[in-house]
Amino acid sequence: MAPPEPVAGGTEFIEIKRRLATLRSTIDSREHAHITVRPEICAACPHSRCTFVCPASCYERIEGRLVFRYEDCVECGACDIACDQGSVTWTLPRGPYGVRYAYG
Ligand code: SF4
Ligand code: SF4
Repeated sequence: MAPPEPVAGGTEFIEIKRRLATLRSTIDSREHAHITVRPEICAACPHSRCTFVCPASCYERIEGRLVFRYEDCVECGACDIACDQGSVTWTLPRGPYGVRYAYG
């Protein structure tokens, strides 16, 4: 990974994925993913709001196709609120899986 670039004002720009790497999480298997989306609904979505609201960049449009990665989720719930198309099914991860907001 390239070193961080300095930005105006002397503040270092840190890529979101690198920042989130400081969180600890235990990722459940794909068949137990705590969030799922329905590709056939996403294919016809008029706005792709999920790609703007997710703080962990779990949603991306790649060559027109919505790609979702539950593995990086920080469980904020924004995508469940933002998606008004009925594509997102959202639950909390099964214990003991998910993100832990503590260091050490
Ligand atoms: S907002 Fe909902 S329907 Fe639209 S792309 Fe995102 S998950 Fe799919
Ligand atoms: S719950 Fe938050 S972090 Fe997880 S996928 Fe949805 S918007 Fe992204």
